[in-house]
Amino acid sequence: MHRSYVNEDITVFWDSDKCRHAKMCVSGSPKVFEFGRRPWIKLENASSREIWETVKKCPSGALDIIYNHDVTIEFDEAGHCSAAFLDGKQIGECDYDDTGEAFNIYHTEVDREHGGKGIAKRLVYRVIEEAERRGRGVIPTCSYAAKIYNS
Ligand code: SF4
Repeated sequence: MHRSYVNEDITVFWDSDKCRHAKMCVSGSPKVFEFGRRPWIKLENASSREIWETVKKCPSGALDIIYNHDVTIEFDEAGHCSAAFLDGKQIGECDYDDTGEAFNIYHTEVDREHGGKGIAKRLVYRVIEEAERRGRGVIPTCSYAAKIYNS
């Protein structure tokens, strides 16, 4: 299962398949990470700096974290995509086809000047999350999506 959690500054990614339940996250920021709670990650319960330091101690890579750089991500079900926006301008998107059984992610693109900020990962994660919430599989035809999904 893939999930992302967002506050004003940061996005935290969680890939449950990688989690070894070493609980470094729980001991590092117990108000943020609590297994059994829904949602189990609550970013509002600590500073972004504390969360950053805790996530960096995750031994398995199940948790990851990036700065948002003021970029917001929106999911557009009708348009079959997720899209990234900065100051109201679209700067990236991730496109998929819904086969009825799976979301086939076939294209991910971010404007060149905004590369290296983790925006593509946020876009792909958002589509994967929405597929999983609907009980669909994921077919990562796009090579970047495959890298995120299979890593
Ligand atoms: S620190 Fe990482 S591996 Fe350990 S429980 Fe938390 S998410 Fe899982």
